[in-house]
Amino acid sequence: MRAIDLRGKRALVLGVANRRSLAWAIADALAAAGCRLALAYQNERLRENVEALASAHEGSLLAPCDVTEPEQVRALFETLERAWGALDILVHSVAYAPRQELEGQFLQTSLEGWRTAMEVSAYSLLATAREAVRLMGEEGGSILALTFLASERVFPNYNVMGSAKAALEHIVRQLAFELGPRQVRVNAISAGPVATLSARGIAGFTQMLAHHRERAPLRRNIEPREVGDTALFLCSPLASGITGSVIFVDAGYHIMGI
Ligand code: NAP
Repeated sequence: MRAIDLRGKRALVLGVANRRSLAWAIADALAAAGCRLALAYQNERLRENVEALASAHEGSLLAPCDVTEPEQVRALFETLERAWGALDILVHSVAYAPRQELEGQFLQTSLEGWRTAMEVSAYSLLATAREAVRLMGEEGGSILALTFLASERVFPNYNVMGSAKAALEHIVRQLAFELGPRQVRVNAISAGPVATLSARGIAGFTQMLAHHRERAPLRRNIEPREVGDTALFLCSPLASGITGSVIFVDAGYHIMGI
């Protein structure tokens, strides 16, 4: 028996780069609960990876989508509309800042770096939610984004990505308010550090992993599967009363003072 049964539900997951991606852990958990999957990847470079992963879940749709290209965002949702007619779940697991902005002084953040980080990592939630909501029916739906504690605390080198995550979390709350009457719930998971492709681009990331392991109440780093499980819960009817929330999946690190 499935603990959570999402058979018949249709989920779009943005941000699968490879098998280490948090987006993949989430997609895998949703598919295991019976969801139909659509996986969007940034560009053709990633297609092979994503195809290989998707083969584990027969019938998954695959589509390229660079979230900074409005045409591609529109085309992605048109593809979904043609294939499924409707959508129940949107998972936004996308972030990017130019590498030089993720080391050194925040004071030196360039306008271009700021714009890129904000556009890819925060505004894209608005752009994709707008399209997703159009496809969500009377039963409503669930929108989920991935964030990090640097939205509210200082993490050296995280720099402009902290600003982007603060904006992202605000978008989650504002959308939760606006979309609540349509029964669309909007939440975020604040994950502890996980060694993924983009996380490795942050200077000092390996030390950060070790620090979390030592200080977190559970005395370990989290596993991507734990993010997948929490995402599954948040997208399921078991979380029907939860919207506008940031849920921490970080082995408890965020409660610590020292
Ligand atoms: P990841 O596997 O590298 O995923 C990030 C994804 O964003 C990649 O698929 C990347 O594609 C995609 N992306 C970047 N620019 C894009 C664009 N313009 N259009 C479409 N997609 C784009 O890393 P991840 O750690 O799983 O990150 C997923 C989410 O979790 C992010 O929001 C991240 O901030 C958040 N998060 C991660 C951690 C962690 O420690 N790993 C902790 C807390 C929160 P490319 O590979 O082609 O750039």
